[in-house]
Formats: sequence, structure tokens, C-alpha cells
Amino acid sequence: MTQGRPLLNRRLAEFGTTIFAEMSALAVRTGSINLGQGFPDTDGPEEIREAAVRALRDGHGNQYPPGPGIPELRTAIADHQQRRYGLAHDPDTEVLVTAGATEAIAASLLALLEPGDEVIAFEPFYDSYAACIAMAGGRRVPLTLRAPDFRPDLDALRDAITPRTRLLLLNSPHNPTGMVLTREELTTIAELAVEHDLLVVTDEVYEHLVFEGEHIPLISLPGMRDRTVSISSAGKTFSYTGWKVGWVTASAPLVAAVRTAKQYLTYVSAGPFQYAVAEALRLPDSYFDGFRADLRHKRDLLGEGLRAAGFDVYQPQGTYFITTDITPFGEKDAYAFCRALPERCGVVAVPNSVFYDDPDAGRSQVRFTFCKKEDVLREAAGRLGRLAP
Ligand code: PMP
Ligand code: GLN
Repeated sequence: MTQGRPLLNRRLAEFGTTIFAEMSALAVRTGSINLGQGFPDTDGPEEIREAAVRALRDGHGNQYPPGPGIPELRTAIADHQQRRYGLAHDPDTEVLVTAGATEAIAASLLALLEPGDEVIAFEPFYDSYAACIAMAGGRRVPLTLRAPDFRPDLDALRDAITPRTRLLLLNSPHNPTGMVLTREELTTIAELAVEHDLLVVTDEVYEHLVFEGEHIPLISLPGMRDRTVSISSAGKTFSYTGWKVGWVTASAPLVAAVRTAKQYLTYVSAGPFQYAVAEALRLPDSYFDGFRADLRHKRDLLGEGLRAAGFDVYQPQGTYFITTDITPFGEKDAYAFCRALPERCGVVAVPNSVFYDDPDAGRSQVRFTFCKKEDVLREAAGRLGRLAP
């Protein structure tokens, strides 16, 4: 306290340490297998790491790169959107490189919201959404995705839109549930956005991790090209989560708005990694197919282990997370369960309950990541098997 006021301002008062930091610290402290925070235990392609080393050695990006990102990366992002989705973007005006998807989300909300604007998002939501909406002075309006399928209730979405609604914040493939929006769902969402003249920010960081169905960027649907801010990142796709290279693709006016905020957050993200990610985006389809096949196999492996251990398992269609329910163990409180798990069996997971505003909706849900080596997943499944419901 100073001047009789708390140091942390009112907008951020409800936010403490992120669950990912808390649970990863718990894993380190207890020497547990960390299936909590989503980061791979194996680095991505060797040639991409070498590209980063080469850039550092050759002095590419060691001084401030251009604010919007190096031209090579902006062009590679535009080419990726064209090749994968048939989307045309001008690399100079319609692509913006950011410090991970996290900064892209923050800059988008800071740029596009006025205080008091309502933002509709499906909960459970990725933890930075609530904090960034708060920092921008917006009001979050959660719509609950419910087990076992976590399909969005589009009638509820229609009902939630008010004259104060400015923006929809969507995430597909969805962390933590693994739900992937279908073309039909996206079409309805797009129609509502057009009807009510809404902006949409889409978090697509798991675009290359879809096991059932396909990833369809909302921006590709009729009426969405000029009202969608499409966000992705290299962290998940190339297994270099520490590099923090993300990007926005959108119309030139939207990119200009987001860039205005982004300039004063970081100005630019790390230069040499931008050169490496430009190469990564040009990897052949076989890389992306192999990555997805590997993770699909790991999803099935961990899913089987969790089922055998007694969890209710909600099969994810995408991402590298599995949401489970701990009710079969006679337990109801995911947070307490996750805090005790290292002691009980040497495994760390994340309670989904912290991703909901509705305290009842996800109370007994626990998330496990499967972006780990096979033997680590087998060992974790074996340890969890000792919990015995
Ligand atoms: N959105 C979602 C849904 C995520 O799971 C994550 C975590 N990687 C991010 C955004 C943040 O991505 P980045 O590490 O690129 O900032
Ligand atoms: N996206 C990662 C997850 O959901 C965590 C990233 C972070 O720690 N902020 O596990």
C-alpha cells in the first residue's frame, strides 16, 4: 500500500501468478513429471535451430529489426496463409510480427477496445484473455463450453450480443478442451458478427494440431475479411515455445490499429528468431503432417493411460491437451487435486477450474498435456494408475 491504496491497480487486482507458472514451479520443487504447462520436452527441427544460430552469427537481427517484423518473415507468413488456406495478404500492410501470440492478443485488445466495451469469449478461456480484456478496460462476457463435447451454444451467443458488444474473442483449436470449431459453427458465428457489425479476434496457435476435422480460419468466411484479426504463433507449431514469435494477419486498417498498440508494448520481438521462423514456415508439408501424426499418437497414448487410471477423458479434436474429470476418484476440486498430485504420484497437471468465471462449470476438470516424449507419457500414466479410484 502507498497513499492508502494497493499497489496493483483495480483492473489487475483479481490476477495473481498464472496457473502455468505456479504448476511448473511445483513440478520443479517436487521433481514431478510436468504435464501441466504446455511446452514440449524436445526441441523442434534441428535445421530451424541452426537457422537461428546462423542469423545470430551473421548479424541478422542482432540490432532492432523493423517494428512490424522483418520482411522475410512477413512474406513467409503471407505465403503460409496462401498455401494452407488460399488467403491473400499483403506482407507489407496486412501482416504484423509480434512477441508471441500473447502480445498479439494484448495489442489487439488494447487497440480495439474502449473502456466498457463487451468482449464475448467462450470459457474455459486461455488465462491471458481475461487479463488483457481487463487491461484494455473491457468487460468480459463468458459463454460456457460444457462437457463432454464442449460445443459452443450458438443460441446463447446470439442472446449474449448487446449494443455494447464490440468484439468476439475466439480460440480454435481450443485450449484447454481440444474442441475444434466446425465450418457450420464458424458460419453461424460469422453471420452473427456481420449482422451485429462486430470485430473478431481469433487465436489459432494450434492451427497445425487438428486430429479430427480441419482448421478453418474464420477470416476466410464471407464478410469476415475486414473484421477479423487472425493470430498465430511459431511456438506450438515448431516446438520452440521460448522463442516467442507470433503474428497477426488482418486487413490493413486492422493491422495498423494493432500495430499502434504493439509499438509501445515491445516495439519488436527478437530479431534472429524471426529469420529462423521465416525458414520454418517454408518447411515442406511433410514436416507439418509428421508433427500432427506424432502428436495424434501421443494423444492416444496418454488418453489410454488416463482412462486406464480411472479418469473420465474428453477426447480432444485438436491442441496438445486432454481435459479429464476427476469425479470417478470421488474428488470434486480440481485445484486441490492438482496441488496434491505431485505428493500422491509425482505428476503435475493444471486445474481447468481457473479458466472459468463460472466456478461450478469446470470445478472437477483437470488438464494434461501430451507434448512430451513417449516414455515420459508412459511413466506418467503408470504413476497416475496408482491413484486408483
Ligand atoms: N493462445 C493459446 C490458446 C495458447 O495456448 C497459448 C500458449 N502457447 C498462447 C496463446 C500464447 O502463445 P505464445 O507463446 O506464442 O505467446
Ligand atoms: N499455452 C501454454 C499452456 O496452455 C502456457 C503458456 C504460458 O505459460 N503462458 O499450457
